[in-house]
Amino acid sequence: MKIICIGRNYAGHIKELNNMKESKPLIFLKPETAVQPKNHPFFIPDFSDNIQYESEILLKICKLGKNIEEKFAYKYYNEIGLGIDFTARDLQNNLKTKGKPWEIAKGFDGSAKISNEFINKNELILDDIDFSLKLNNEIVQNGNSSDMIFSFDEIISYVSKFFTLKIGDIIFTGTPAGVGRIKKNDILEGFLNKKKILEVKIK
Ligand code: MG
Repeated sequence: MKIICIGRNYAGHIKELNNMKESKPLIFLKPETAVQPKNHPFFIPDFSDNIQYESEILLKICKLGKNIEEKFAYKYYNEIGLGIDFTARDLQNNLKTKGKPWEIAKGFDGSAKISNEFINKNELILDDIDFSLKLNNEIVQNGNSSDMIFSFDEIISYVSKFFTLKIGDIIFTGTPAGVGRIKKNDILEGFLNKKKILEVKIK
């Protein structure tokens, strides 16, 4: 199983981090060991003073595929979930300014929180999925799939040029504006169309 992440897919988030808009989806990977075990808390690692949450819509791949045409991309995912792309922003900024790869800032152990629950895509209007993240009971991020720069199908098609997609792979589709730092004892809750499908405690 692999985790493929898309960066800079919402204009609001690009602006808040002073990044440039991409002409193609920006891709990075997290290793399988980044997946946080189900119902485990997130432990703030000692190598960072600025771990940030990024809530994102997830696609679960249901079919093996390579060089997938955009018009057939919908056949390759059947379930939609919610995730948090935990980011060591201090490490990432440091590496980014030096033009170095930022894997350690994005792919460390526990950096991929995946909702326990996924929703069948047939129950959703794919270009109108609302999602939000609460931090200690206050909404800090609110997004809608209609605001994505690259659609689910464009992402699947583009990613599959480079990486064969396998059943069970997860795609993180990017975060909207509102990312922020976490601290010990915080509680994050994720909602997809107002339904809570994710919770993580910070330790
Ligand atoms: Mg992200």
